[in-house]
Amino acid sequence: MLNQVLSEIERRERFVLTSHARPDGDAVGSTLACSEVLRQMGKQAEVVLHDGLPRVYQHLPFAQRVSKAERVNGSYDAAILLECDNLQRTRLEGLERQFLINIDHHRSGRAFAHVNWIDPNAVATGELVYKLARAAGVKITPEIATCLYTAVLTDTGAFMFEGTNQHTFELARELVLAGADPVRCARPIYFGHSTAKLRLLGLALSALQREGPLAWIWVTQEQMDRTGAKEEDCEGLVNYALSIGDVEVAVFFRELPGGRFRVSLRSKGKLDVAHVAEEFGGGGHACASGCSVAGPLHAAVESVLGKIRGSLKMQGQPPSAVH
Ligand code: 5GP
Repeated sequence: MLNQVLSEIERRERFVLTSHARPDGDAVGSTLACSEVLRQMGKQAEVVLHDGLPRVYQHLPFAQRVSKAERVNGSYDAAILLECDNLQRTRLEGLERQFLINIDHHRSGRAFAHVNWIDPNAVATGELVYKLARAAGVKITPEIATCLYTAVLTDTGAFMFEGTNQHTFELARELVLAGADPVRCARPIYFGHSTAKLRLLGLALSALQREGPLAWIWVTQEQMDRTGAKEEDCEGLVNYALSIGDVEVAVFFRELPGGRFRVSLRSKGKLDVAHVAEEFGGGGHACASGCSVAGPLHAAVESVLGKIRGSLKMQGQPPSAVH
């Protein structure tokens, strides 16, 4: 499939690149790196993201290429979607008219494009962009390496999630050899939080709930207003609930302006949370997934926890003891 993607790129000139709304490190890193790979191939490559760049990724090379927009207007020969398991996740209008190339590593990835390169064995979409660059004969510059290292770092949960193995470190090593600085890549992401985020985290953790191997936390619109936290400040909060020793599955609920809830699910590996998210129209990976569900809070919690309890029961590990 790599060869097909490459030949479709080679025969075209003007590209628009995008990724999912509320972009994470892999979405941003793989898209920025891919834009440079294309430019080094002599192509025109613009980047459009529905939500623009989160603060922690604004220092990345090529960040100035990103336009924040609700629709894709220009005239392009193809659109490349990275790290999107369906078209809707971009939240961009106007893509349906384009020739679509889909590069993704989600297990829930769908073949929605004209060309689909979906490899769930890749730890990050950035790994696929690395392969694309190598196949195209493009030199991995320090700037490309920095974007790709950021993608790998964040999508492996700083090399801690299931699936991280010797190949991940070989890839990371190659990116560091090519000029990525691991300390400078990690610092804004793990030591660059806003004060508002930490205050919001405090509120969420003080109300943390437990039920056997499950832990869940939530934040309301009122709490976000009170702390001055932004949507991007909610990124990663779920990991604090997962960090408890005997927790297997953690869930984070964020109230949306209309009263629905965004849900982030994380697992240490015993339960496939992509299956849970898919039940609600979402998706993701076995250990990290997301979806949105109807409110109010207690209804959102009950519906998601109900599915998790059911799945754990099927696996013979009911969430009985409360810790
Ligand atoms: P997060 O909890 O960080 O928002 O997302 C975790 C993982 O699940 C990411 O790989 C993300 O792309 C995926 N994901 C989150 N929300 C959705 C959703 O609504 N639909 C789909 N298909 N995937 C999602």
